[in-house]
Amino acid sequence: MQLFDKTRMWRRHELKSSYDVVIVGAGAHGLAAAYYLGKEHGVKKIALLDKSYLGAGASGRNTAILRSNYRTPEGILFYDASLKLYERLSQELEWNLLFSQCGHMTLAHNDSSVTGLRVRAENNQLLGVNSRMIDTEEIRKLAPEIDLSCDARYPILAALYHPPGGIIRHDAVVWGYARACDRMGIEIHPHTEVTDIKVENNRATTVMTKRGPVAAGAVLNATAGWASTIASMAGVKLPIVTHPLQACVTEPLKHRMIMPLTGGGRPPRTGTMIQTGSLSAAGSMSNRTKPFNTWFHSLTARRIFARSYMSNCSSMAIRTISSLAVAAR
Ligand SMILES: Cc1cc2nc3c(=O)[nH]c(=O)nc-3n(C[C@H](O)[C@H](O)[C@H](O)COP(=O)(O)OP(=O)(O)OC[C@H]3O[C@@H](n4cnc5c(N)ncnc54)[C@H](O)[C@@H]3O)c2cc1C
Repeated sequence: MQLFDKTRMWRRHELKSSYDVVIVGAGAHGLAAAYYLGKEHGVKKIALLDKSYLGAGASGRNTAILRSNYRTPEGILFYDASLKLYERLSQELEWNLLFSQCGHMTLAHNDSSVTGLRVRAENNQLLGVNSRMIDTEEIRKLAPEIDLSCDARYPILAALYHPPGGIIRHDAVVWGYARACDRMGIEIHPHTEVTDIKVENNRATTVMTKRGPVAAGAVLNATAGWASTIASMAGVKLPIVTHPLQACVTEPLKHRMIMPLTGGGRPPRTGTMIQTGSLSAAGSMSNRTKPFNTWFHSLTARRIFARSYMSNCSSMAIRTISSLAVAAR
């Protein structure tokens, strides 16, 4: 019923001349950082500035997967905390994020992938994350429509199965946070491009925008793939590079087909299938080859920012979605 509610989810505001915090980028990270600053630390005089509409970056065009079956101990614990936050986020934001914990499978197409997935399964289990290797028999039971024959283009040998993994409606995450920020009096300013940042005594003091200058007690750069361009405005050279990341999305498929997938899937409601993977040469079709954006795309990261701020003061109708991801150099 929320969809038929005609109340505006966030209000328009005149841009003021100063704020305690200015956040550049109103994707999931900028919005969530603003939300936790307001909710957990009582900072409300915040302006979120975006050069486009909310969620115009990767937040509105990703493959919507949530999971915590990563490889390194640091990553696993980090994403596990994030997944747990997501489990109660709809309730907290009072907005249905359509989070479906339908389970997630990462398919292995060669021996080295099997070995890699085994390492992940063991690390996951040691840290209490529900994730295990399954053979083709079990894959068949979970997803009968997947071609498990030996003459498939990329025959499937095994899979890493992660029951708590799933998919979420990414736009709903953006809108849910935006609505919650607005309710706390945090201002959202779409179509407000940041063009420069003035620095005095090693501190970013003023953000120049196409709508005029804004003084800021602190500035957060939450622009993901644009992060290095914003940082360079403040004279900071970030040791990261930006890559386009793409995913193929099919036309709607029958629901049974789309539950667990090679690296990604859409909610059954949408009925489309997404095949993700870096389009650079990949050792395995099921693995992304670049460590993109690992630190940034987690709820935990946004909360950590909030805390550290406080302590420091197609025939098949296939289309391609694409946005920017950053990778450590
Ligand atoms: C194809 C693809 C698939 C993905 N799949 C998944 C997945 O399945 N699961 C997962 O967890 N993650 C996935 N990701 C990663 C995830 O989408 C991103 O990590 C996340 O959305 C980044 O959010 P963000 O808020 O940091 O950045 P973004 O959502 O990219 O927001 C950055 C914002 O900054 C704004 N901006 C840029 N320059 C300026 C400026 N000068 N002034 C003002 N505003 C500016 C942009 O307009 C944009 O809205 C995927 C990414 C891609 C591209």
